[in-house]
Amino acid sequence: TDETIHNFIQEIIDTDLANGKHQAIQTRFPPEPNGYLHIGHAKSICLNFGLAAQFGGKCNLRFDDTNPEKEEETYMHAIKEDISWLGYQWDALCFASDYFETLYQLAVQLIEAGLAYVDNQTTEAIRLGRGSLTEPGAESPYRERSVDENLAHFKKMRDGEYADGDAVLRAKIDMQSPNMNMRDPVIYRVRRAHHFRTGNHWCIYPLYDFTHGLSDMIEGVTHSLCTLEFEDHRPLYDWFIRVLNTPCQPRQIEFARLQLEYTVLSKRRLIQLVEKGHVDGWDDPRMPTIAGMRRRGVPPQVIRDFCHKIGITKKDATIEMEFFDGLLRDTLNSHAPRRMAVINPITVTLINYPEETVENLTIANHPQNAEMGTRQIPFSKHLYIEREDFKETANNKFKRLVLGGEVRLRGAYVIRCEQIIFDEKTGEPIELLCHYDSDTLGKNPADGRKVKGVIHWVSKPHAIDACVIEYDRLFTEPNPMKSEHFTDVINANSKRIIDTAKLEPALADAPIGLTYQFERIGYFTYDAEKLNGQRRFNQTISLREGG
Ligand code: ATP
Ligand code: MG
Ligand code: MG
Repeated sequence: TDETIHNFIQEIIDTDLANGKHQAIQTRFPPEPNGYLHIGHAKSICLNFGLAAQFGGKCNLRFDDTNPEKEEETYMHAIKEDISWLGYQWDALCFASDYFETLYQLAVQLIEAGLAYVDNQTTEAIRLGRGSLTEPGAESPYRERSVDENLAHFKKMRDGEYADGDAVLRAKIDMQSPNMNMRDPVIYRVRRAHHFRTGNHWCIYPLYDFTHGLSDMIEGVTHSLCTLEFEDHRPLYDWFIRVLNTPCQPRQIEFARLQLEYTVLSKRRLIQLVEKGHVDGWDDPRMPTIAGMRRRGVPPQVIRDFCHKIGITKKDATIEMEFFDGLLRDTLNSHAPRRMAVINPITVTLINYPEETVENLTIANHPQNAEMGTRQIPFSKHLYIEREDFKETANNKFKRLVLGGEVRLRGAYVIRCEQIIFDEKTGEPIELLCHYDSDTLGKNPADGRKVKGVIHWVSKPHAIDACVIEYDRLFTEPNPMKSEHFTDVINANSKRIIDTAKLEPALADAPIGLTYQFERIGYFTYDAEKLNGQRRFNQTISLREGG
C-alpha cells in the first residue's frame, strides 16, 4: 500500500534483514473470533500488513480460536470482511484450531522432556499456589509425577476421562520466579465445549500463551507483534520456543495499544453494549468497530491514515477524538460529492414563477474539483428550504432569509420573501411566498445590490423523502473507564432520528459506501436498511467541530 512505516519495529526488521538473520519477513494478524474488530485492531492490522508490504514479506490472518465458548463463525466472517474492506489481503488464512493435533504433540514433547505435568489440584488451589507479586509460589503436590504418569494422565485428559476442571497440564518452570507468568503456567485445560470448527472432537484446549508462540513457530512468523500487556509474557513465549528447540524462532515485539477518547476499545466491553441494547448491534454507527465506522460512512483510507499518523511506540497514550475527526473531515472535504438536502423543511412558493415550468440546473459536484463533474437539479415554483434559514425579523448578522429580505438559492436565483403564511393552530410559519429575480441565475443582480446569504434548497415535487440520523459520541466522558462502570457514562442523546428530510433527486441512486456532503449540513452516507419505511442516511460527521 501507500504508507511507509517508520518506527522502532521497522528498524529491528531492517537490522534482521541486513545481518542475514532473516531472508524475508513474515507477520500475522491474530484475532480471536469472539467479537467484531475495532479501531484498535486496525492499528495492529495496518502495522502487520503494512510491514509485510513494505518489506516484500508475508502477513497471515490467523484466528486464535482456542476459547470455544466465546467464539463464533459469524465473528470470523465479520473479521474477514473488515480486513478486506480496510484494503488488506492476507497471504495464508490460518486457524490455531488447525494446529490442535500438532500442539498436542508439542505438549507431549514437553512432558517427555520433563517440562510439563498434569496437575489435579482444584482451580482455586492452583491459583493460591501461584502466590503473588510479594509472595513466592508453592509447588504443587503433583509436580514431581514421572514422565510416564504424566503421559498417561494427559492422554486421559484428551480421552475425556476427566471432568472439566479436574486436571490441567502445566509447564514446569519456576514457582519462585518474580514473573508470575513463569510460575508453572497452565497450558491445557479440560473443557467440554463445542468448537465452531473442530466441533466436539476435542475436550481439551490449549491456552493462549502456549498456543500463540507455537502457532507463530508453525507458520514461520519472524516478527510477532503484540500489545504491551504481553511484555511480561515474552519470557514464557521464548521459553516454549527454546525448550522445544524449534527450527523457526519467531521474535515477539510489543507496542502500545491504541486508546481513543470517548470510547472503549475492548471486545469484552463492546459486547456488553450490544447485548444490553445500548447500541443497535456491532455495526451501529456509534461503535468504534470497523463495521460501525463503515456504516457511518468513514472511508477505509481515513482509518489507515489515522493508524499511520498515530505511529507505533512503546508508550501508552490516549489519542484525542478530535484528531480522528479532523482527518475524517479533511478527507471528506476533499473527496465527498456535494448534494443538497433539507432536513427540517419549510415550503417556499415562488409567486412569479410559472406553475408548469421545471428548469434543470447544472451544479458542480465539488466546488474546488471540476473533475468530480456536475449534476442536474430540477428547479420549480415549489421549493423547500431549511426552516432555520428563515426568520421573520433578524439583525443583519443573520445572512439568510428574512421577511422583505433577499437570499441566493445555491446554484439558482435570488429570491425575496414577500409574505409568510402561518399555521392557524400553532401560529408557526408554514409557507413563504417569495419573489424570484429571473435575471440572477449564475450572476449578481444587474442593479448592483448585494445579496450576501446563500442557502440550500430542494424542489418540492422532485424531492425524495428520507430519514437522516445524526450521531454524537457514545460516551460523555473522555475516559469512560474512569467511572465505576463504563456504562454509567453512556451518552443518552447519542442518536437523533430526523424523519422529515427532503433530498435532491440525484440522491435516489446513492450507492452504499459513498459519503456525501449535504451542503451546509454535514456528511452523510446511504444505509441500505430502511427506517420507518423510508430511505435512511447516517451522519458520518458534522461539517465542523461541535456542529
Ligand atoms: P480486545 O480486548 O478488544 O478483545 P484483544 O487483544 O483481546 O482485544 P484479539 O482479537 O486477541 O483482541 O486481538 C488481535 C490483535 O489485535 C492482537 O495482536 C492485539 O494485540 C491487537 N489489538 C487489540 N486491541 C488493540 C488496540 N487497542 N491497539 C492495538 N492493537 C490491538
Ligand atoms: Mg486476545
Ligand atoms: Mg480480548
